[in-house]
Amino acid sequence: MNFYDSGKISDLLNVHGYKEINNISEADLVVLNTCHIREKASEKLFSDLGRIKKLKKTKPIKIAVTGCVAQAESKEIISRAPHVDLVLGPQSYHQFPEMLRKLEDGCPTISITEFSTSEKFDNLPNAKYIDGPSAFISIQEGCDKFCTFCVVPYTRGAEYSRSFSEIINEIDNLTQKGVKEIILLGQNVNAWHARDPVDHEISIGNLINEIAKNDKLLRIRYTTSHPLDMDEKLLEAHRDIPKLMPYLHLPIQSGSNKILRLMNRKHSCLDYIKIIDKIRKYCPGIAISGDFIVGFPGETEKDFNETLSLVREINYSQAYSFKYSPRPGTPASLIEDIISEDVKNERLYKLQELLNKQKLEFNLKFLNKDVEVLIEKKGKLENQNMGRSPWMQTVYVDSQKSNIGDIKKVNINYAGLNSLRSSAFK
Ligand code: SAH
Ligand code: SF4
Repeated sequence: MNFYDSGKISDLLNVHGYKEINNISEADLVVLNTCHIREKASEKLFSDLGRIKKLKKTKPIKIAVTGCVAQAESKEIISRAPHVDLVLGPQSYHQFPEMLRKLEDGCPTISITEFSTSEKFDNLPNAKYIDGPSAFISIQEGCDKFCTFCVVPYTRGAEYSRSFSEIINEIDNLTQKGVKEIILLGQNVNAWHARDPVDHEISIGNLINEIAKNDKLLRIRYTTSHPLDMDEKLLEAHRDIPKLMPYLHLPIQSGSNKILRLMNRKHSCLDYIKIIDKIRKYCPGIAISGDFIVGFPGETEKDFNETLSLVREINYSQAYSFKYSPRPGTPASLIEDIISEDVKNERLYKLQELLNKQKLEFNLKFLNKDVEVLIEKKGKLENQNMGRSPWMQTVYVDSQKSNIGDIKKVNINYAGLNSLRSSAFK
């Protein structure tokens, strides 16, 4: 979502005469779009701000901090880094141009952290340029679920769904410019709901159905989903809509029901397993991905072993795993039963070892098989193209021909942990 937001900020500033550049020393304005989800992500902001401060000594540049750290720590940013000119929360960045004008008129540091999500989307321009054949589109923001470890409900605000027509228009604009794949985005993307043009209440399954009617669009994906919002319509979409790719990112966080309760996830391991069983019936071979947190306060060796058992039972194609990071203002940060860093490291290592084993096994199944690849860009090596399989694997194709934006069949002759490779287009 931060990538999408950064692109939107860039589109917006473009309309107002700014241009994105690669060399920071030539910039008039530096925008740091930040993430607050784990401690490491927000610490990075302050070290970056320290480096950028030196630039300001040589040139009168403006510095803006946007995103979730801006939302959660605006006061701290202004006191620790007084050289920052503008602090804008993730639901206020449509006000960027107006605030820049105010700064130019001599206004001192400005900080805006109000939640005006619908106003934001009303004021964002359509993309002028596209950045490759695959594009993100934010359809849902915020969260009402309040998992005890998570800052999202506080930084992004309450659940908000963009309107049906707004989404369809944005996708039309993107596909007219050459986009072939859309990735629908949301903190709880499958909680999206709205009323269609004939005033029927619809959910993400219906939306995907409608989007699939766009002839120029070849692939549809969505992320991130919550188990509580995996409704029947969405599961059926995986059975009925060929453009919907066979990939599901469905975080569970832990394989222990006790920890799920402490996390306030509102679902059990069995609920999760039932969803995966059903989607595998509807869409055999679907790639399952997830998120895990190790070392949540109170997690015993037994709880952690239950996570490993769940991972063995599900058999993931890939997954993200993190050490628990206490976040200010969240209920879990007040629980005293803290797990030591050493234990967290050890558990993360064990979990990742298992997940990597499953990932490699998943990839190896594609050896000598034909796979359709959406070519996204040139690879790092000469005469190489890089694309994605329907199951989200990175595929390198060694071929002089460049077919960016095409879907091409290739035969896989190498499968590693992080990518597949083919020696030619078919
Ligand atoms: N809405 C999604 C997750 C969005 S946050 C869901 O509920 O599944 C993305 C991921 O960051 C989470 O799935 C979780 O694994 C991780 N995460 C969030 N807060 C964290 C914290 N305090 N410490 C460690 N990982 C965290
Ligand atoms: Fe955070 Fe996801 Fe839980 Fe919402 S559902 S509080 S975004 S982890």
